[in-house]
Amino acid sequence: RVPINSIAGAGLAPKDHIDLEDRTKKINEADRHVVEIGEGIEACVGNTPLFRIKSLSEETGCDILGKAEFLNGAGGSPKDRVAFNMIKTAEEQGLLTPHSGDTIYEGTVGSTGISLATICRARGYLAHICMPSDQATEKSDLLLKLGAVVDRVPPAPIIDPMHFVNRARNLAADHTADPTRAGRGYFADQFENQANWQAHFEGTGPEIYQQCGGKVDAFVAGAGTGGTIAGVARFLKPKLPNLRVVLADPQGSGLFNRIKNGVMFDPLEREGTRRRSQVDTIVEGIGINRVTANFEAGRELIDDAIKVNDEEALAMARWLAEKDGMFVGSSSAVNCVAAARLARLSGPGQRIVTILCDSGTRHLSKFWTHAGDIGGRTDTKLSHILGD
Ligand code: PMP
Repeated sequence: RVPINSIAGAGLAPKDHIDLEDRTKKINEADRHVVEIGEGIEACVGNTPLFRIKSLSEETGCDILGKAEFLNGAGGSPKDRVAFNMIKTAEEQGLLTPHSGDTIYEGTVGSTGISLATICRARGYLAHICMPSDQATEKSDLLLKLGAVVDRVPPAPIIDPMHFVNRARNLAADHTADPTRAGRGYFADQFENQANWQAHFEGTGPEIYQQCGGKVDAFVAGAGTGGTIAGVARFLKPKLPNLRVVLADPQGSGLFNRIKNGVMFDPLEREGTRRRSQVDTIVEGIGINRVTANFEAGRELIDDAIKVNDEEALAMARWLAEKDGMFVGSSSAVNCVAAARLARLSGPGQRIVTILCDSGTRHLSKFWTHAGDIGGRTDTKLSHILGD
């Protein structure tokens, strides 16, 4: 046994003795997860933890598991996987060349922009991000710090050339057509680009399967582009035919109507001409009123949808902070309401996996302003949140 002060230096009274040899042996013997040295910040993308959300699991008798996607280490959301895969794919196709002056243009409510901006920096591209002006300012501030060009455009219907997605597409085309500009313009196009859902098919889905040892009863996720739900469903469903894939849909979103047998109920919505009022919800990142290629990629695999309103999402965000010390953003809160509601509907014993997309720190100026402080609150009941 080595007295601790013989290691730490003379003069300090030992409080205790530790057996370093024994500890070293135990550490070496333990079955430790060894991580290789990665190459750049891209090595911090993926392989996120999965954990039991204790309060919701105890209250419902189900295993409600959260995939900590906010721990993706480039831009802090599942969009790291997507941004990295879109860039890698375009490089493989010869559409982008690192350090050549190429600029990546994207229309995004923020998370994809942040992931693109970080990975652009790491790989020698410029990022030009178009986003609606009603999104939380934390996201545009962060983009500016990363040196991205940020276009905040007024919310507009998808047929409007000033819609954030159209604006990004048009700017990329203008860039490429302009011989006076360096490099090419590349429109990443997360809504239609198949590299989006494929990132989740190759990463998020297999990770969930492995982390759960193949036991998953339900997967719950919201859809912004639809890439997450499509990619995970396409990986898991063939392995787990009884798996239920459930869409968590915030108020104001029309995807809810579109999941059964591919039926599109409203031709105006199909055209994207019905204006979705951006003030319909304070939730950011999920909910949309048109079917994108990424949503289409998984639409037939979605078994059900659960609508979640803003009050429920706010109450859930407070609940998770109060009971579990989890400070989540708005889409994670929606996912957790839907997961808890599904647990109530399906009865105890189910294992339900959902996505924790980003941190509440991205939503301080908007969502969390409405959520307020949790203070010394201890009296909330889950049934009040779920309305059951
Ligand atoms: N949560 C947040 C915070 C997001 O930004 C997004 C993507 N816009 C999503 C969830 C939804 O993910 P997906 O695009 O894969 O449907």
